[in-house]
Amino acid sequence: MPKAQETVLEIDLKALKHNFEYLQSKLDSSTKFLAVVKAFAYGSDAVEIAKYLQDLQVDYFAVAYVNEGVALRDAGITKPILVLHPQPIHFKTIIERCLEPSLYNAKVLNEFISVAEKENQNNYPVHIKFNTGLNRLGFWENDVDYIISKLQNTQSVIVKSLFSHLAASEDENEKEFTLNQISRFKKIAEAFFSKVNYRPWLHMTNTSGILNYPEAHFDMVRSGIGLYGFGNSDKENKNLKPIASLKSIISQIHMIEKGESVGYNRAYKALGFEKTATIPLGHADGIGRQYGNGKGFVTIKGKHAYIIGNVCMDMIMVNITDIDCKEGDEVVVFDSYSSAEALAQTANTISYELITSISQRVKRVFLK
Ligand SMILES: *Cc1c(COP(=O)(O)O)cnc(C)c1O
Repeated sequence: MPKAQETVLEIDLKALKHNFEYLQSKLDSSTKFLAVVKAFAYGSDAVEIAKYLQDLQVDYFAVAYVNEGVALRDAGITKPILVLHPQPIHFKTIIERCLEPSLYNAKVLNEFISVAEKENQNNYPVHIKFNTGLNRLGFWENDVDYIISKLQNTQSVIVKSLFSHLAASEDENEKEFTLNQISRFKKIAEAFFSKVNYRPWLHMTNTSGILNYPEAHFDMVRSGIGLYGFGNSDKENKNLKPIASLKSIISQIHMIEKGESVGYNRAYKALGFEKTATIPLGHADGIGRQYGNGKGFVTIKGKHAYIIGNVCMDMIMVNITDIDCKEGDEVVVFDSYSSAEALAQTANTISYELITSISQRVKRVFLK
């Protein structure tokens, strides 16, 4: 790979293929694979990622919002797309663009049915979400009769799947809670199946659920973070490859004397003679202010250079006193060696937040 000459997010599609195949190797051959490509495929690029996964024969996609699904359709993605958190204002668009809604409460169920009827739909595929403990979105287990009574009064929709979401699938200490979620979901499914004469698919596991709860794979699994290279544990991180590398360059080097300050609010003051590098990457690019003042670091010539002072909108300054480097040299913010997970930890956050924050201003480059 040529050295970075500006701030770029490199996306390694071979790593994506590796992760997809690794996660698939954990499944029975009949279990379907849904790729979660919400939030620009976790900060990378939803269209390129979805096209690539579609070529690899992934079964399904999921996005959070309708506009994300529309963008995939505009780009020629033809596989089914589940919209996890649609708003009724977009239900007509859902139908026009062949997206499939998650229906999670009485209000959205009734509104979707009424739009589907108005649009003369017959058996339009929908997915019913149940809350089994996350307490975020979803019907309660005792809503099954209500849902079925609504479904029996219309030809406009058909339930393609029932699903739920685990709250702590990465946490071994919450195993009992997770097993309880799984058994509640099974009970809901049984109640549902006993009252309709077809069998919707079941799905409940995210990446950590795929890895830790094979008994909960059911008909399909939903993976996001694992595809992008993080397994939420040291053990699984070793089996996956981060697909994204954030790289930049040194724009300018300053030599400063003891007592001189660096950046806004004079937040850093040199303890002696020091060398600093200014890098074209700031909080508007997704490196938040919480990484400033000695917490976050970048890697230059294999060595850590810590961010000094406050993160600016378009720049950070790092301490390179002990690093032999020059203006124009490459800077690694994160890659497969210096992981986004490790950088995220310096600011008490998680890989998900750091990678989904890389703003659209940063150029995406794809390695095929
Ligand atoms: C985001 C999301 C996922 C993906 O979770 P990962 O931990 O990234 O694998 C799966 N299901 C639902 C409902 C989600 O919102």
